[in-house]
Amino acid sequence: MVPMQLAPGVHRLGNALVNCYLIEDGNRMTLVDAGFPGFRRQLDEYLRSRGSSVSAIDAVILTHAHPDHVGMAEGVRRDAGATVYAPDADAEQARTAKQHKREGSALPALLRAPVWRLLVAGMRNGAARVTKIGEVTPFSDGDLDVPGRPRVIPTPGHSPGHVAFHLPDRGVLIAGDALVSYHALTGARGPQLPASALSYDSAQMLASLDALERVDAGITVFGHGEPWTDGPAAAVARAREIGYT
Ligand SMILES: [Zn+2]
Repeated sequence: MVPMQLAPGVHRLGNALVNCYLIEDGNRMTLVDAGFPGFRRQLDEYLRSRGSSVSAIDAVILTHAHPDHVGMAEGVRRDAGATVYAPDADAEQARTAKQHKREGSALPALLRAPVWRLLVAGMRNGAARVTKIGEVTPFSDGDLDVPGRPRVIPTPGHSPGHVAFHLPDRGVLIAGDALVSYHALTGARGPQLPASALSYDSAQMLASLDALERVDAGITVFGHGEPWTDGPAAAVARAREIGYT
């Protein structure tokens, strides 16, 4: 995937399966989620193409601490002196890389085709490397004092502490994996809940959609899948209609 600007100062990076985002504020930046470790080369090249470098990144903010969202965080922290922020209930996982329980056993999921693609893409991008983060600053609610001033929207369920980020002045909602538009196990596209088997608490995940429904955003972006431009309310309605997956 070619990195691109989606909205003023909001850029999408990653590959066909996993996204992360850069928010530009003047010449300072926030990295939202950190993909796989192997995404670092793309990040460096993209920043260079824009006359910048990783040292412009003040903060890495995580929607949650799953391995496909934290990969570059430690490297960017070390190289840029960036602060890594993780939601309260995911901060320990960000520090230790120890995984919380999930509703499903991974094994049946592994036998389904698209997840292999995710894993293979992940390995190629260094997902197998340990991605403990040396220093993590926990946060809960409110606005984060980082470039772009994202507003935190607690959306627990996919992980214990999952949050979404709203950028009101850019008209962008970064849903993380509270909603996705690509399903890792079935390959289905369009807004929907992520796989229950890969999530902490599906009922909580469904209830968390309430918090996204009324967000005013022209563009909704996800941890997985293509951006959505019909507004969060329609995305949430579609996810509710589909239900658990
Ligand atoms: Zn994810």
